[in-house]
Amino acid sequence: MNLTYTDIAVNLIGSDLEQNYQSIIDGAAAVGVSQMIIIGSDLTESQHVIDICQQYPNQLYATAGVHPHHASQWQPQSKQQLASLLQHASVVAVGECGLDYNRDFSPRADQRKAFSEQLQLAVETQLPVYMHERDAHQDFYDILKEFRADLSNAVLHCFTGEQAHMERYLELGLHLGITGWVCDERRGQTLAELVKTMPADKIMIETDSPYLLPRSMRPKPKSSKNKPSYLPYIAQYIADLRGEPLEVFANQCQLNTQTFFNI
Ligand SMILES: [Zn+2]
Repeated sequence: MNLTYTDIAVNLIGSDLEQNYQSIIDGAAAVGVSQMIIIGSDLTESQHVIDICQQYPNQLYATAGVHPHHASQWQPQSKQQLASLLQHASVVAVGECGLDYNRDFSPRADQRKAFSEQLQLAVETQLPVYMHERDAHQDFYDILKEFRADLSNAVLHCFTGEQAHMERYLELGLHLGITGWVCDERRGQTLAELVKTMPADKIMIETDSPYLLPRSMRPKPKSSKNKPSYLPYIAQYIADLRGEPLEVFANQCQLNTQTFFNI
């Protein structure tokens, strides 16, 4: 079966994948993962991501933004700097941005400010917004709700929350990105139940590589480093949970992704 996939979260730059990125890209393409969204986590990294993506038109696409971990770097001039990065043709979304109260690598007030200003940019550019939320549901919801009506498209990547949160996010019309977290027999149980009920037209799939290696893979990969070439495994796992043929699920995800990012 020749299925085509898009991995909506590859941390190709600033991670363990960077050194061998050509083999990572080739390995993914060989199993049908023919498009990837490469995540920019701060302004410098976003520029680097854009430089790489420009070499792979129609294959690699960039996000540009400041991750909540780096929100303390957000300065008065950051919004203008990000606005100019967003003009590059390979940039398909504003982000990764949001709130992470799990790690609290940046002060929460800084996180809220950086998130709000990036949402403003998404409104001004009408680009989709690419978001992250860990243990910050209420603040995240409140801030997002202010902007939602004026945003074009919005995805919460690596959704791992509970049912009530999922319902509120779906009410806001968000897309939800599902990672190999769902394959984790310890902490992925809730998510494994929730993916059965998610609307088919709101799901996108992602590895978030090199993080979150799917724990159920057998034989277990020698390296704990996750790769975009494992995306078809995650797709099969979710399709099985939903009781759908892989082909139906994978094609729906691909359609959702191409429509969402306009790629
Ligand atoms: Zn994230």
